[in-house]
Amino acid sequence: MSVEEEVMRIQKKLSKMTSEDGSGQEQALDLLKELQNLKINLDVLTKTRIGMTVNALRKSSKDDEVIGLAKTLIKHWKKFLNSSTDNSKSSSSSDNKESKKEEKKKEEKQEKKEKEREKDKKLPSSFPPSSVTTDSVRLKCREMLAAAIKTDAKDDDFDGCATPDELAEELEEAIFQEFKNTDMRYKNRVRSRIANLKDPKNPTLRTNFRVGAIGAHRLATMSAEEMANDEMKQIRDKFNKEAINDAQLAQAQGTKTDMLKCGKCKKRNCTYNQLQTRSSDEPMTTFVLCNECGNRWKFC
Ligand SMILES: [Zn+2]
Repeated sequence: MSVEEEVMRIQKKLSKMTSEDGSGQEQALDLLKELQNLKINLDVLTKTRIGMTVNALRKSSKDDEVIGLAKTLIKHWKKFLNSSTDNSKSSSSSDNKESKKEEKKKEEKQEKKEKEREKDKKLPSSFPPSSVTTDSVRLKCREMLAAAIKTDAKDDDFDGCATPDELAEELEEAIFQEFKNTDMRYKNRVRSRIANLKDPKNPTLRTNFRVGAIGAHRLATMSAEEMANDEMKQIRDKFNKEAINDAQLAQAQGTKTDMLKCGKCKKRNCTYNQLQTRSSDEPMTTFVLCNECGNRWKFC
């Protein structure tokens, strides 16, 4: 059996587990260990998209060991994507002219792929955006941002959305890309995001960021005024108005929007419906369906 076939066999089993609830965690761990022992190269990663499967498992699992190993694998593969050209060399077995030619072709293909990925960062690759860092300052900032994003969160708030860690990583990465170092300006920028995300009077900012109405790149550069209540409300109001207008036209089908970002496939192609779940003076609950991958979540 080739590595690719092995991976696909394991993937089939793993994807069954992500749809179940918490069961089979021991088997999941075994399968992850099998993956760890396989010589998976970039080619296999892109063909099988096993990264997404493992990431989905990481999100749905409640077993610390499974989550830990899944994280390790994903981190390892991400590194590998960054240095793909080096890795493709080690996979060649002989050095006759034929294989060298093929190798070169492969490298060119990978280079092209990487360029495409950089050209449009909004497009999801087979992975969440790669932003691995070992810098302790940056890691600490991500940790604090994640904590701020979780402020006042209920248990199911992040169901179907990107996780606080992912959101924090994306935000920190956007800030870091602007300054390219962790000097005072970087720290001040991080600090002001944390303060605003934690603001008890400004839950709308958190929600807007969590559901993708405000992207990480936008939040990374927003002024204090923009982050404050009014601006955030305006975004939500615009969104609600759109819903009301559309609701009159097509109540049953829901409203299509690119304002919301799917936490699973990271695409902006969602349909939502709004319902007053409790009394009329309480905020409306928005139910979202991703038209790309079928992911569902809600927020209010
Ligand atoms: Zn989706």
